[in-house]
Amino acid sequence: MPGGSCPTVGIAGLTLGGGVGVVSRAYGLTSDNVQSLQVVTADGQVRTCNSSTNADLFWACRGGGGGNFGVATSFTFTTHPAGEIILFFLSWPWSQAAPGATAFVHRNALFQAQYTTTWPVGSAPAAVSRQHAWQQSYWQSMRPYASGQAYQNYIDPALTNWRQAYYGANYTRLTQVKATYDPDRVFTFPQAV
Ligand SMILES: Cc1cc2nc3c(=O)[nH]c(=O)nc-3n(C[C@H](O)[C@H](O)[C@H](O)COP(=O)(O)OP(=O)(O)OC[C@H]3O[C@@H](n4cnc5c(N)ncnc54)[C@H](O)[C@@H]3O)c2cc1C
Repeated sequence: MPGGSCPTVGIAGLTLGGGVGVVSRAYGLTSDNVQSLQVVTADGQVRTCNSSTNADLFWACRGGGGGNFGVATSFTFTTHPAGEIILFFLSWPWSQAAPGATAFVHRNALFQAQYTTTWPVGSAPAAVSRQHAWQQSYWQSMRPYASGQAYQNYIDPALTNWRQAYYGANYTRLTQVKATYDPDRVFTFPQAV
């Protein structure tokens, strides 16, 4: 199944927010390969979600982001054969699904860019600040070439228009699912639906 490209990432958060990996162009997002999942919702119920049962929650749990709708306790995935030699696919479009097919809206993006910076443990605060400043200025320089969308699994606390950036036209539907399954906002964080 198509996972992320980094071994330290947990399957639940990866899947709930979308899940972009090296074979995603061939097999879709991690979340595109979920057949069914179980979610404990705010009312304490264990709910099976798939295309015929709790279909709205199933839609939201494929790209709507972790920590929003309940606690996912199990996933059932579609798997694909992997031979001894693994090939990497780079062909467009990167997924056949429409932007509204699941909560993951960024189906028409050509690529995503990730800006990272690292420093040795124990670095001086001034050096760390310089790294941050470099990263911020690089991000700023790339703005003219970016769509303004942002991947909800690369959560960015500085993003003020995160609703539009993470979810675009899907945001309204996500708020409806939220109101159905978590009306008292038991599950929340600063950028929660
Ligand atoms: C080093 C690194 C590499 C990455 N590489 C990739 C990559 O290749 N592709 C990609 O798509 N993304 C990648 N990401 C982003 C990654 O998908 C997100 O950070 C994702 O949220 C990680 O999920 P987690 O369960 O490990 O994280 P956590 O920090 O444990 O969880 C993230 C969010 O999901 C919620 N959550 C976690 N478990 C559950 C659950 N069982 N039910 C409900 N909510 C839950 C948490 O409350 C939190 O809000 C990377 C991140 C890092 C740090």
